[in-house]
Amino acid sequence: YLDLKDLHKAFGAARVVSDFTLAVERGEFVSFLGPSGCGKTTVLRMIGGFETPSSGRILIDGQDVTALTPARRKVGMVFQAYALFPNLTVAENVAFGLKVAREPASQTARRVDEMLELIKLPQLKDRYPYQLSGGQQQRVALARALAVRPKILLLDEPLSALDAKIRVSLREEIRAVQRELGITTVFVTHDQEEALSMSDRVVVMHNGRADQVGAPFEIYNAPKTRFVASFVGTLN
Ligand code: ATP
Repeated sequence: YLDLKDLHKAFGAARVVSDFTLAVERGEFVSFLGPSGCGKTTVLRMIGGFETPSSGRILIDGQDVTALTPARRKVGMVFQAYALFPNLTVAENVAFGLKVAREPASQTARRVDEMLELIKLPQLKDRYPYQLSGGQQQRVALARALAVRPKILLLDEPLSALDAKIRVSLREEIRAVQRELGITTVFVTHDQEEALSMSDRVVVMHNGRADQVGAPFEIYNAPKTRFVASFVGTLN
């Protein structure tokens, strides 16, 4: 459903992503796991269209999107934190993409309500971002990304700015929403526990390459390289 074919990315002389090939199935939840600087965000940004590959191709639902702008790829993205529009209410934030797409007002209103139900925050509709906790803000960011019915959901360390307790409950909540919609999702994180507990499959990245791709139990029980073993904590 999402096909990444031999992606490479260099910034000047720095090769940041190499030989990156991956097929993600429809409805699958895949994490890119690796230390800071390993290239996971760069791959995510290439999928979203915010970065152009030096070579390679990206297909979404059979369509080659490599040359398309982010808006035309139909992807939804959630960032680390503080990405809501501060001067818009919760409802206006969630409606933003629908307005840009010129959806009729009545449909937009209905969709916003649906999304706020989905993230279980209908009562916060008229609040502004500064009146919400970090966890609530990230749930609204998720609703905003999903409102336009994207083909793929891209999550870039959406939990890393939150405190530990909220982080754990939001893991489950994100996964529940993802399952309910059946939306194909790529989740970037440097947190091994997060990746292993949330994902159908994990891609462990190291120096711009995929060191190992597998189900969480495979990654944990049968790490293919020393790097994977040390990073997921099975080697000390
Ligand atoms: P982090 O979690 O710290 O963001 P990451 O694994 O997501 O790490 P990337 O953000 O993909 O890593 O960055 C990979 C490498 O590419 C880093 O060394 C970074 O400095 C470099 N890089 C990223 N974007 C650019 C850019 N626009 N110009 C030059 N170098 C860049």
